[in-house]
Amino acid sequence: MFFDNASTTRIDDKIVSNIVKLNNEHYYNAGALYSSGRESKAIISKAKDSIKAFIGAGSQDDLIFTGSATEANNLALFGFVKKNTKKILVSMGEHPSIYNVAMELKNRGCDVEFIKLDKNGKVDEEDFVSKLSRDVDLISVMHVSNETGAINDIARLVELAKDENPNVVFHCDGVQAVGKIDVDVDSLGVDLYTMSAHKIHGMKGVGALYVRKGVTLKPVIFGGGQEGGLRSGTENLLGIVSLENAVEMACSNIDKNYLHISGLKKLFLNSLANTGLKYVVHSSDLASPYIVSLSFVGVRAETLLNMLDDVGVMIGNGSACSSKNSGNRILEAMGVSKAEVESNVRISFSRFNTEEEVVKLVDCIKTCVVSYLQKV
Ligand code: PLP
Repeated sequence: MFFDNASTTRIDDKIVSNIVKLNNEHYYNAGALYSSGRESKAIISKAKDSIKAFIGAGSQDDLIFTGSATEANNLALFGFVKKNTKKILVSMGEHPSIYNVAMELKNRGCDVEFIKLDKNGKVDEEDFVSKLSRDVDLISVMHVSNETGAINDIARLVELAKDENPNVVFHCDGVQAVGKIDVDVDSLGVDLYTMSAHKIHGMKGVGALYVRKGVTLKPVIFGGGQEGGLRSGTENLLGIVSLENAVEMACSNIDKNYLHISGLKKLFLNSLANTGLKYVVHSSDLASPYIVSLSFVGVRAETLLNMLDDVGVMIGNGSACSSKNSGNRILEAMGVSKAEVESNVRISFSRFNTEEEVVKLVDCIKTCVVSYLQKV
């Protein structure tokens, strides 16, 4: 049973058959001049328009396909920063693909400040406002936390930021939001927005960066000049179409899936409450139901993960996208105690999970935690 869907998801069967067919019919390089190459180009262009429509982008706005959301995040920050960039604000809750870029920019001499989190894992609005100034050129705040599911009020943060400096560029990492909660880049007011295919049942190795008309970026990858020169490299046609399909499937069923996942989260928490186990939940009621972060205090997360794995249950710990880097930075920024950080695990659902699985998950957790506590 797979409950680590914030780290990746199984590709939807319909997407698999679609890309297999596409591979036979349209493997041609989109840069080639013959008609089959032009067809590949048209397929990519259609995917771009379709994704843009689902996220509320205007026809003049751009969408740059990349090799991952990590790359899209790198492009957003490194691509924006110029010699005259004065100040950058980044939230403490960001995924390493933003946080580590911000640290690198700091090392290279940029003025980077980190915005505090509140106890629910959202950006602390007071701290955010106190750091705004006319010198802030770029802000990066994620939409939904991959650690806790905390949802930032991006529209409000953008409004506050643009009130202070109308020229500030606002980037938002929407990897855990697209297809799961409503995303409309226009009403959010963001200038740059990142997404990834493999978090919503598309292929791994493909992401995209929405770029509002008028925002200029420099490439970070140089080569043949694909994607308007912003992302060189032969286009990953199959991956791009898998992203298009994944966005379409998730966004067209967003309410139905949300209801299903909310039901799973409720069932999980209610069943857990009946086990008599001691635990602390770090995800608030207002968080995305797709992610539940919790700690079984006194039970080392890694050991619990291994015990569950032995009985066929996969869950996450910390930032499971790179499990070597624990999520301590984020939980600590929320004020979570060391003991709770050490015992922190993450359950993340997908539309493929069932109620039956959730009941089994809780049973397995109970057995493993009880057996762990008996041994210590
Ligand atoms: N941003 C967030 C919020 C994520 O959860 C992830 C997941 O790993 C990423 C970025 C990186 O995505 P990718 O695996 O496509 O590079």
